[in-house]
Amino acid sequence: MSKLKNKVVVITGGNSGIGLGIAQEFKNEGAKGVIVGRNQETLDLAVAKLGEQFIGINADVTNIADLEKVFAATSEKFGKIDAIVANAGAGTVGTVENLGEAEYDMAMNLNLKSVYFTVNKALPYMNNGSSIILIGSNAAHRAYPSFGLYGAAKAAVIFFAKAFSNDLLSRAIRVNVITPGTTDTPAFEKFVPIEQIEATKTHFAAQMPIGRIGQPSDIGKTAVFLASDDSSFMLGAELIVDGGMTYLA
Ligand code: NDP
Repeated sequence: MSKLKNKVVVITGGNSGIGLGIAQEFKNEGAKGVIVGRNQETLDLAVAKLGEQFIGINADVTNIADLEKVFAATSEKFGKIDAIVANAGAGTVGTVENLGEAEYDMAMNLNLKSVYFTVNKALPYMNNGSSIILIGSNAAHRAYPSFGLYGAAKAAVIFFAKAFSNDLLSRAIRVNVITPGTTDTPAFEKFVPIEQIEATKTHFAAQMPIGRIGQPSDIGKTAVFLASDDSSFMLGAELIVDGGMTYLA
């Protein structure tokens, strides 16, 4: 049975990696909606993969006016919004000695401010009883070298799930957060030279308690659960989906 039949979802960063994996799992469960990103080519490719139930909107999640347009356009096209996934984000690498104001603002704008305003601008269009899913990171729980700024932003995202759920009790809107561990996405290409990517993935897999790195579908299936009635008793919760790497490695 389709768990999300005719539900309308907006997924930021739905044109790549984890966001695209989430969109595919939502589609498999009968949902439709919008994926958001800035790269038109990957947006078009993702929409071609997802089929006609999904449209792509080119928008920058760090731009509040863009976010307003995304939710107004979604509501106009689909008539309602049942779920949003605030997934767009990226690591900022460096230490407190070498990252300055520009990098600080970039990390916080993309990984924290965008999450706040994605939710803030979606809420006027969301039904009571709907579901908001935030994407955190295992870097919020452990001080991995050079991931301090990113980890701090993601730790605040995890807190937002609790605070927003509390704020939205009267509307029965549940806000939960998924904390992925290392997951196989194009983000690798940003940190590792292309010829070393496969070796790096093998190296990470060997360090994972479960013996493999995550796939976008691992996160996608968890997001489906959080958007569906199966999780109707969960709010302000964090689901760590990490192959055991955060606390068992
Ligand atoms: P990818 O680089 O594959 O995807 C990132 C997505 O975010 C892209 O779709 C990108 O679209 C979008 N995005 C980035 N900046 C903006 C922006 N300013 N406006 C709109 N969209 C934007 O990364 P992942 O799939 O790996 O990461 C997805 C989420 O998962 C992130 O929040 C990340 O922090 C988190 N995460 C990832 C882990 C991993 O190991 N992969 C582990 C833990 C957490 P476009 O380029 O078109 O703008």
